[in-house]
Amino acid sequence: MSELPYSYEAPVSQALFDRAAAVTPGGVNSPVRAFRAVGGTPRFMVSGSGPYLTDADGREYVDLVCSWGPMILGHSHPEVIAAVREAVARGTSFGTPGEGEVALAEEIVGRIGPVEQVRLVSSGTEATMSAIRLARGFTGRSKVIKFAGCYHGHVDALLAAAGSGLATFALPDTPGVTGAQAGDTIVLPYNDLEAVHAAFHAHPGEIACVITEASPGNMGVVPPLPGFNQGLKDACAQNGALFVSDEVMTGFRTSRSGWFGVDGVVPDLMTFGKVMGGGFPAAAFGGRADVMAHLAPAGPVYQAGTLSGNPVATAAGLAQLRLLDDAAYATVDEVSRQIQGLVGEALTKEGVAHTVQNASNMFSVFFTDRAVRDYEGAKAQASYRFTAFFHAMLAGGVYLPPSAFESWFVSTAHDERAVQRIADALPAAARAAA
Ligand code: PLP
Repeated sequence: MSELPYSYEAPVSQALFDRAAAVTPGGVNSPVRAFRAVGGTPRFMVSGSGPYLTDADGREYVDLVCSWGPMILGHSHPEVIAAVREAVARGTSFGTPGEGEVALAEEIVGRIGPVEQVRLVSSGTEATMSAIRLARGFTGRSKVIKFAGCYHGHVDALLAAAGSGLATFALPDTPGVTGAQAGDTIVLPYNDLEAVHAAFHAHPGEIACVITEASPGNMGVVPPLPGFNQGLKDACAQNGALFVSDEVMTGFRTSRSGWFGVDGVVPDLMTFGKVMGGGFPAAAFGGRADVMAHLAPAGPVYQAGTLSGNPVATAAGLAQLRLLDDAAYATVDEVSRQIQGLVGEALTKEGVAHTVQNASNMFSVFFTDRAVRDYEGAKAQASYRFTAFFHAMLAGGVYLPPSAFESWFVSTAHDERAVQRIADALPAAARAAA
């Protein structure tokens, strides 16, 4: 058994975790699932229905993770499940073109004006990796600007975050990424246009693209300051670079056309994942037709995938997107507002310094009374308070992201009963955080 606290609260999950650790590094297939930041036993889930997850010990939780964003209609939505069943009955993978992928591409192009052409892939990581390769191939340049605190998947060149200072060349953030792979990455502080201008000035004709989360959710929710995304677009246009907006998290979640639907800034390339897969591995990158024309087989920039456009994944994604009308977004926005309000009230009542930040219906709680504008600000919060808060919520039947630096997600299925469960769990959690 693990020596971490809380491990006895979920004996069946703990037994599974011990079993997993024997055959899988750290017992998980994606690091944040291991509860390292908060301690305790990761809950092994066995089923999901609407806003609820049920773990292997038979406990039910209101889910505020939603599989890290995709499950915007809640779990096991009957129409998504029906579409999947129908697709599976026809076969699971052909390695040929199919109508489902055309329909999903049409849905994406129809929703998001700047996306004239789109290529389907299987993960957000593939989408950002491919978009960057395309930007480099199109411009004939090597360097990429990214922002500290923005996550774009585990692409070698993007697993780099540098210390303070302008236009700092990135050091690899992890063993296994070489200096050469990170050496063309310039990491800048988020929300700092001056730093971007300085970097373009320092590297004339060398920068292929700027990539940013359209509205970051991977350092907690830290929206762009007014004018920041437009400033990035303008700086790229003036310097012959491409503006790549990563909407893997925000796409089809923050509005029917993602963050683009909120701020209207027109990127050259965009990346998508999560919601567009309906809970299956489907992702995409797309944008200007003249840029996308550089991709193989039309153009010279190579990119491919055995399971790209998989018929089951595209059926799930299409079914989910077709259900996401204006009324669905209004529902998600409203339930998000309610929960943000409840969390704020409970923490205020206990005198806990906090800031609730949101980007449309994505939100997170920072344990600081200062507005968070960048990664340094996010890291300055009292994250130990989050640990106590997290475990009290878990004990109260609410499953939060197991880290203080993540967005919380809600769905159309989060009804009054689910919100009441959250309201009931909050007082004890706020006391624990005090
Ligand atoms: N980009 C952003 C903004 C993300 O939030 C993520 C994942 O959380 C990714 C890219 C990578 O996506 P995936 O985990 O599907 O590879």
